[in-house]
Amino acid sequence: MDKSLDNTVIKLAEADNVGIATELTGLQVGAILNDGTRVIQKIPMGHKVAIVPIGKGDKIIRYGQIIGFADKAIKAGELVHDSLISLPAPPDLQSIPLPDALVPEYTPLEGYTFMGYRNPDGSVGTKNVLGISTSVQCVAGFTNFIERKISQELLPGFPNVDGVVALNHSYGCGVAINVPAAIIPIRTLRNIAANPNFGGEVLVVGLGCEKLQPERLISQDNNASSNIFNMQDESLHGFEKMVEGIVGLAETHLEKLNERKREVCPVSDLVVGMQCGGSDSFSGITSNPAAGFAADLIVRAGGSVMFSEVTEVRDAVHLLIPRTTGPDVGNAMLEQMKWYDDYLERGQADRTANPSPGNKRGGLSNIVEKALGSIAKSGTSPIVDVLGPGEKIRRKGLTFAATPASDFICGTLQLAAGMNMHVFMTGRGTPYGLSMVPVIKVGSNSKLSRRWFDLIDMDAGRIASGEMTIEESGWELFHLILEVASGNKQVATDRLGLYNDLVIFDPGPAT
Ligand code: CA
Repeated sequence: MDKSLDNTVIKLAEADNVGIATELTGLQVGAILNDGTRVIQKIPMGHKVAIVPIGKGDKIIRYGQIIGFADKAIKAGELVHDSLISLPAPPDLQSIPLPDALVPEYTPLEGYTFMGYRNPDGSVGTKNVLGISTSVQCVAGFTNFIERKISQELLPGFPNVDGVVALNHSYGCGVAINVPAAIIPIRTLRNIAANPNFGGEVLVVGLGCEKLQPERLISQDNNASSNIFNMQDESLHGFEKMVEGIVGLAETHLEKLNERKREVCPVSDLVVGMQCGGSDSFSGITSNPAAGFAADLIVRAGGSVMFSEVTEVRDAVHLLIPRTTGPDVGNAMLEQMKWYDDYLERGQADRTANPSPGNKRGGLSNIVEKALGSIAKSGTSPIVDVLGPGEKIRRKGLTFAATPASDFICGTLQLAAGMNMHVFMTGRGTPYGLSMVPVIKVGSNSKLSRRWFDLIDMDAGRIASGEMTIEESGWELFHLILEVASGNKQVATDRLGLYNDLVIFDPGPAT
């Protein structure tokens, strides 16, 4: 990072003609940057200041990349507000060359382990949770009732079990279940039930008459049918019998979960899902590069990392395709981009639907600038695989798991992919959390991290203030991931019990 201008302005690449104001109070009129540029307009924290004169129609460059074109001449020292920037065309998917096949090689990182719950299928959990899967929204009231009852009355008898969670969702009936797009919600729900933190002890609650039959949500081996409970079962007379039935079934699973013990596991058993939400201009300078550095460490130690959020990758995809391990992986990534372009077009949306007003107040002018900052969380490792929404992870190393950028949808799809740790970067602040997997919240700026001291787990804003480097921050995050995965440290959302709902990505029609 080039801090030659001043500690109060960060310029990320030599070619950049804008700098980012890093002080909490922003830059005042009259401030002189180290290169002699005089600030002629107040620059709020996180926003861009022109460090050279920019002519009308000229490129505006950040991260060494074009983030837009100037709608009018901008003087050195002036605020480069988003109203002055016109959006460049997105990278043309047809013209991005595919890379040659390569076998990724990593400098091995050895000697790091965590304490996890080894499952019979080889996967490893970081929590020990009883999951109650559901085939349809109709049963949500019942499963919420059961979740409360089990928490209050049964869990005290199973001290090794961390919790019980009803996997409620809006899908399952009133939908066109046989259309091609239905594969996404169906495999999402099936794969969530197989998340390593449930230890293979999931049970399914169905209604009976729904379109999505519960059998489709559970692996067909090991007596699958004995783990399915249908409320319309004709042998059940009244609500109390239903409660008795499901509680009895839950008890057998709780007994097995209670026997799980943490054991030493290599970092190669980690599956870390990275995403950001409520980003600001700092995200691409601090929290996302720190996450990227930690991602590289996990990959070097043999583990798996996923990054996602198609709309926040789309405008930087030309920088990612050359990092894929061959034409098949590169092509798979381009296909996911194309699918999403078409999906947005069908909805008559375009890429200006992202960023949000809060992103803009945080200094992010447009989706190109947001994407360039967003992909920093992928680090520098080769991209070994691409997953469609809701697919399960297949390879160690860095995987692109295609999802919408919506925090709760992305989190739900990464759960389905099999993540056992979640790292979430935020600049504006969000209380986002999941009950199934620990969510480490990394603040991109110290202003937020201090104000939300009991909601943010790590302050990466210290990179902008010069207190630590990206490398130091990345190592700190890596160690934090291992501590949380081992159950030695609790993340804020677990301590406070702040949990979001599962939100299913359903691109198909309702009926
Ligand atoms: Ca997001």
